[in-house]
Amino acid sequence: MEQYANTLKKALGAKLKEQEPLAPFTTFKIGGPADFFYDAKTKEELVLAIKAARDAQAPFFILGGGTNILIGDKGIRGLVIKNSTQNIAIRGVRGSMESGSNKRTVFVEADSGVPINKLVRFTIEEGLSGLEMQLGLPGSVGGAVYMNSKWTKPEGYVGDAVYQATIIAPDNTIKEVSKEYFDFAYDFSTIQKSGDIVLSVIFALLQDDKERLWAIANSSIAYRRESQPQGIFSAGCTFKNISKAQALTAATPGLTTSAGFLVDNAGLKGAVVGDAEISSVHANFIVNRRHAKASDVVELIERARQAVKDKFGVVLEEEIRRVGEF
Ligand SMILES: Cc1cc2nc3c(=O)[nH]c(=O)nc-3n(C[C@H](O)[C@H](O)[C@H](O)COP(=O)(O)OP(=O)(O)OC[C@H]3O[C@@H](n4cnc5c(N)ncnc54)[C@H](O)[C@@H]3O)c2cc1C
Repeated sequence: MEQYANTLKKALGAKLKEQEPLAPFTTFKIGGPADFFYDAKTKEELVLAIKAARDAQAPFFILGGGTNILIGDKGIRGLVIKNSTQNIAIRGVRGSMESGSNKRTVFVEADSGVPINKLVRFTIEEGLSGLEMQLGLPGSVGGAVYMNSKWTKPEGYVGDAVYQATIIAPDNTIKEVSKEYFDFAYDFSTIQKSGDIVLSVIFALLQDDKERLWAIANSSIAYRRESQPQGIFSAGCTFKNISKAQALTAATPGLTTSAGFLVDNAGLKGAVVGDAEISSVHANFIVNRRHAKASDVVELIERARQAVKDKFGVVLEEEIRRVGEF
């Protein structure tokens, strides 16, 4: 740490903080401090911080909305870069005449730090379709592209609407890449492996009726309120759903692929370790009742995974990402 501390301080100046508590930056409200912390408000600052960490050979972590991570009780070594970039802009329109009606694709660019909810509201107000079902999805544009976040009713992945993005690669080159580059799949985009960081994203959206879009968005929110615990500290779904092939092999009840159903059926709903609890509303959510430690959450995760394995022979994979030292 000594080796890179001075280089970081020189590059990032007075904005660089030390020993910054990270729990407040997460929806779980769990986790120890960052050795170093930098809040990037613009794309230029984001690039500056990434390059500074690489030049200093310091480990670094990009923190979006902190809604899908479990930070260890001992915190994160190196530099945590909080992505607070905020710009949204319409970049262009492409029109075409199809069966007599005028259909237009509108390209909207958002910085990777923009909260998804802010972007969704903007696109609906502009009468643009493609992201409306994501209203209520917590977190940032960058995190949603990294995870290819999704909604079920009506079904939609954030990656579906991506047209192009600007990324910074591990060798510090900044380039524009198309949607195909991300190889989007369930809970997956290629940047989970490549180490690329998303700076901004251009979404291709179709002109549509604003009232219709609000109706879809509001029904998404209503279903979210009905099916997910509200007003609690959590990081959303703990486990990924299983594949159809796994459900067939394990002969799950009704061939369900729902991880929440399996955890519930294995008798873990309401289970408690320390101040962490498997939600009694949705068994795929772990809730921090107030003072849970990361170690409590990890113990609950392992308990649930073991119970499901014992009952169904399926090993659940985590959707939540563990970060830092535990
Ligand atoms: C109450 C609740 C409900 C949820 N509902 C859903 C849901 O319906 N559907 C769903 O899919 N998820 C859901 N989630 C999970 C989470 O909101 C999403 O996965 C979200 O898109 C994560 O974004 P984030 O900015 O918070 O990412 P973070 O948690 O900050 O980070 C997640 C990962 O992305 C990486 N990352 C972040 N920004 C970038 C970037 N710019 N470039 C490269 N990597 C980056 C981080 O380094 C980290 O590895 C829910 C979570 C909560 C708390």
